[in-house]
Amino acid sequence: MTCGDIDLACTACRLSGKRLHVVPGSGPCRSRIMFFGEAPGKEEDARGVPFVGRAGIILDHAIEKAGANRSQVYVGNIVKCRPPNNRRPRPDEIEACTSLYLGSEIRAVKPRVICALGQTAANYFLPTNEKMSDRVGQDIEMLFNGLEVRFFVAYHPAACLYQRKHLASLERSVRGCLRAAGVV
Ligand code: URA
Repeated sequence: MTCGDIDLACTACRLSGKRLHVVPGSGPCRSRIMFFGEAPGKEEDARGVPFVGRAGIILDHAIEKAGANRSQVYVGNIVKCRPPNNRRPRPDEIEACTSLYLGSEIRAVKPRVICALGQTAANYFLPTNEKMSDRVGQDIEMLFNGLEVRFFVAYHPAACLYQRKHLASLERSVRGCLRAAGVV
């Protein structure tokens, strides 16, 4: 069972050729908050669950440090299949995947808050050329498919693996989003 109608045998784009699993979001289908990363990595592709590798551990810790836990929130990706060698998903792959699934997923969950983790997710929701880092810390009112949401941008947990200075920012963002959503 997925939240929204995600086809677990999807062949809508070239990513279907090399993936092991379509990776739908995880968490309650009615949640006050949705976190979205870019696309599954190796571990996620192998298990069919988002954010279960090293980046996922960082995200889980940030959620726990804020006083919540992963089972209370919805976590997913803009693109549901792993790009080969973890390259960035290409614009046509993002378009194919989001046009089929992201809207239905968000309509099903009806969150108060959406948090984009990293540049790819930030650019999807705020289609401008600005750097995601300029948006970190902002509380943005947004109408997404007719649904009013508060939108936040945070550093991607994987970025914190390489640049530890981003970790405090991610933890602040996660706490801010969870508070805005009324989860903590
Ligand atoms: N990075 C992402 O963007 N998503 C995952 O699920 C794992 C790593």
